[in-house]
Amino acid sequence: MEQIQSIKSNIPTPTINTIKSTFYSKLIKYGLLLITFILSVMYLRKRYKNNCEALENKFYQDTKEIIPGINYLLYHPSKIRYIYWTGGYSSTFLLIQALIIEGYPIQPIYIKCQTMDDKFSIQGKQSQQKEIEVMTRLRTTILIDYPHLKPMFLPTMYVYSIKKDYDISNKFRQIYKHFTFFSPDVNQFERLARFSIHYNKNIEIGLINTGTSLDYASSGIRNNEGTKNCQLISKQNLLKLNNNPDNINPVKNYDNLDIFRNFRFPIIHMTKVDIKRLASRQKVLYLLQITWTCWYPNNIGKPCNKCHQCSKKMDLNGFINN
Ligand SMILES: [Zn+2]
Repeated sequence: MEQIQSIKSNIPTPTINTIKSTFYSKLIKYGLLLITFILSVMYLRKRYKNNCEALENKFYQDTKEIIPGINYLLYHPSKIRYIYWTGGYSSTFLLIQALIIEGYPIQPIYIKCQTMDDKFSIQGKQSQQKEIEVMTRLRTTILIDYPHLKPMFLPTMYVYSIKKDYDISNKFRQIYKHFTFFSPDVNQFERLARFSIHYNKNIEIGLINTGTSLDYASSGIRNNEGTKNCQLISKQNLLKLNNNPDNINPVKNYDNLDIFRNFRFPIIHMTKVDIKRLASRQKVLYLLQITWTCWYPNNIGKPCNKCHQCSKKMDLNGFINN
């Protein structure tokens, strides 16, 4: 008994200082764990939101665009026209032609994972917000003025994730080197192409006659120009161009353009002025007046009047009467 007591008395009792130090070391340990956790959540959230190179294509629909009582399954998918829509001048014109003028059911697709080049991300997000706001306004206006189109104007597919594809990305990079002025919406075309290939549908794009960018790259090598089926010539024919003895530029690999095989260019033969004139005759110019094209809206949501898009903006005040 005495022995046990003496052993007990030899055990040092914990002082206040040692309790404090264990408390602080635990605090640091859990603090670090918490910070790591928060950073991981932030990283995952960012990845989730900007998932432009993901395992698969993913999209959502805004429940506010789904009108109760409307049957959106009336039309067979083969009858539906898929359209890349941004709320801008030319893509809105294309949507109006297909939906209001020609009476097709349409499925708008909006690439949301990032609007522009990554370097513009902050501004890009602002213009994205503005674009969505404008598309909402356009949708509301169209459905008030043309209520019979409700089952044909399908809720937009907001794409937040696009399947990664090194082959397409590399080919795009080569096209970009070849046609240097593809910038600055360089990444946007690559994403639209990648989405269209993996979604495995023909998707119409509101590209117009500008003589630049994809219009320039594909000019003279398109079929069915002036129709909704306007598209690039086949891969075999693109390959033939490479072997053409008149093609003196060795960099030209026309078959790289095959990454755009699912694009359709229904209005590529039209200029901005042609669009204004036709929309005016069709009495739909007021809808184009709602559209938005600026890449860098200011803090109060007004166009910057400086960017590439603003500098080429059409004056839509007043109708052309011819
Ligand atoms: Zn601008």
